[in-house]
Amino acid sequence: CGIIGILGNHEVSPQLVDALKRLEYRGYDSAGVATVDATGQLSRRRAVGKLVNLSDLLVHRPLTGHAGIGHTRWATHGGATEVNAHPHQSGPVAVVHNGIIENFRELRAELADRGIMPESQTDTETVALLTAHHLDQGLSPVEAARATLARLQGAFALAFLFQDQPDLLIAARKGSPLAVGHGDKEMYLGSDAVALAPFTDRITYLEDGDHAVLTRAGVQIWDAEGHQVHRATARIDVGA
Ligand code: GLU
Repeated sequence: CGIIGILGNHEVSPQLVDALKRLEYRGYDSAGVATVDATGQLSRRRAVGKLVNLSDLLVHRPLTGHAGIGHTRWATHGGATEVNAHPHQSGPVAVVHNGIIENFRELRAELADRGIMPESQTDTETVALLTAHHLDQGLSPVEAARATLARLQGAFALAFLFQDQPDLLIAARKGSPLAVGHGDKEMYLGSDAVALAPFTDRITYLEDGDHAVLTRAGVQIWDAEGHQVHRATARIDVGA
């Protein structure tokens, strides 16, 4: 339902939760965050119910790291449980997703044929499992995400975060909005500009079919045909 991503220069976990609070108006049943820390470790925390449950959990079990993603979930496939909450992680990749992966049953069956089983009931987890499988086959994070995106049907906004990649976020949109925010040597991703308002007002909206590779140096965007494209950056004042 709500997506946030940050490549920052300080601890991002409090910022991720703050940004999710700004997306509360959209409604949600659970929430979660994942970060990559200074050693490259990818970790996540998830909680059912209000965001205060997630922030309480983070007090007891803090997450460090300057790169992270966060999500507020409005369940479409699988009940509102911690196991079904995003981020979904499979080994070295974590994913947050808005929308529906229509062909997830077919993808699940393919993965099962390879002995790869989900632990949740969500459509989203297949995206993480498929990407981890592509990494296993020797693809780079960008190649692995692209190979996964090529297989997805439905409507989605997605953000990928990878272990040992503290300067990388991959984003994709098809049918669900996604905005890239430009900071000062920091980069952001949000399901709307409202979530990014405390951080930056310089926004690039992805277009349908786009995928983007974010590093702290900036963003590169490719369209649905795989051509690298330029998307305009504008100052969007939604009020911090
Ligand atoms: N279909 C996904 C799920 O049920 C994402 C729902 C959403 O947009 O929050 O987990």
